[in-house]
Amino acid sequence: MEKVFREPVHDFIHVENKVIYDLINTAEFQRLRRIKQLGTTSAVFHGAEHSRFTHCMGVYHIAKTITDHFSLHYPLEWNPDENLVTQCAALLHDVGHGAYSHTFEGLFDTDHEAVTRQIITSAETEVNAVLRRVSPDFPEKVASVIAHEYPNPQVVQLISSQIDADRMDYLLRDSYYTGAVYGQFDLTRILHVIRPVPDGIAFAINGVHAVEDYVVSRYQMYQQVYFHPASRSMEVLLKNLLARAKDLYPKHRDYFTMTSMRLIPFFEQEHSLQDYLALDDGVMNTYFQAWMTCQDPILSDLANAYINRHLLKSIQFNEATEMDLDVLRQLVDEAGYDARYYTGIHSNFDLPYDFYRPNAKSPRTQIEIIQKDGSLYELSELSPIVSSLTGTIHGNRRFYFPKAMLENETFTDHIKNDSFCPIK
Ligand code: ZN
Repeated sequence: MEKVFREPVHDFIHVENKVIYDLINTAEFQRLRRIKQLGTTSAVFHGAEHSRFTHCMGVYHIAKTITDHFSLHYPLEWNPDENLVTQCAALLHDVGHGAYSHTFEGLFDTDHEAVTRQIITSAETEVNAVLRRVSPDFPEKVASVIAHEYPNPQVVQLISSQIDADRMDYLLRDSYYTGAVYGQFDLTRILHVIRPVPDGIAFAINGVHAVEDYVVSRYQMYQQVYFHPASRSMEVLLKNLLARAKDLYPKHRDYFTMTSMRLIPFFEQEHSLQDYLALDDGVMNTYFQAWMTCQDPILSDLANAYINRHLLKSIQFNEATEMDLDVLRQLVDEAGYDARYYTGIHSNFDLPYDFYRPNAKSPRTQIEIIQKDGSLYELSELSPIVSSLTGTIHGNRRFYFPKAMLENETFTDHIKNDSFCPIK
């Protein structure tokens, strides 16, 4: 069989294996069409409406291109029996993501990685039934690749390392859909120079600049797109909105049965896998729209702010200014906004690249470059640009508050005197 999917980032995605095609057609995988890849980022980059489905298809495509290339050109270093498990892990690596995952997880104690594992290994899912057709232990194998526990490091590194199929796809895809062109890099070149080596994967020296450019693109996408203060503002709003709903639930159950019952298991703190899978962006947004007209002034105001994009404003703070946040919260309270629901802290930090540090908390698998004589060098030894990013952490912490506080002189004086970074 062959099925061809057309899409803008990779042009044509070919599916030749019935297992992959059947996985795509499961309810759990189709659900990813209804979850946005970048959550609240589309409130800033309005083109970024693409779904997790498109990303997972792209990761599969990159993994398939690499495993086909390895099978053809490196029969001694690569075992083609690993092709299917690599491609399945690529396709399913994000299958457990939920609606607005990052915000939702903090409040309702869910974990998309655990759910991914459950969808793959639990006998109740369609995904599991398809995988079991390959062999009874195949679901466990696929899950162990995603958990970094699979014995072959080549397979693990293709799915998860500092230059893997996942990152290569999301950088290109998010760049395409946001319009932020600095996320682009030369994927075709990278797929030509990637090679299997006994301990994992490496890149031929003549592709070092393509790999370097990929690392720089990654750094720029984090700073410009993923850490944008306005999409973080939407995340803080969303978190506060859901927190308010969760706090109201025990006393005002009627607010939460108006449209759909699907959040109830999470308020009750007793949910099944099927409850989790029944949530998507549409379900959540329907709740938010209904809450806009409910009796609780805070819930309805926050829902209105979220749906109509009335952003909270923010300042960047550091250790020196952190202690003043309590004063700011108090001023927010005094101005009539309950600071528990109208302020928030959002932290974003990223380490663009690092070499292997055996004593680190989570040591990174470094990017290896193969010289003509076969010797391996770590990327930052060969690239001055990557060297300047290596081991450096970039990001900030921001304090969010209602826009109206900018009219409050005591508040603005306080911000000025304490030399917080500029308001966004
Ligand atoms: Zn991913």
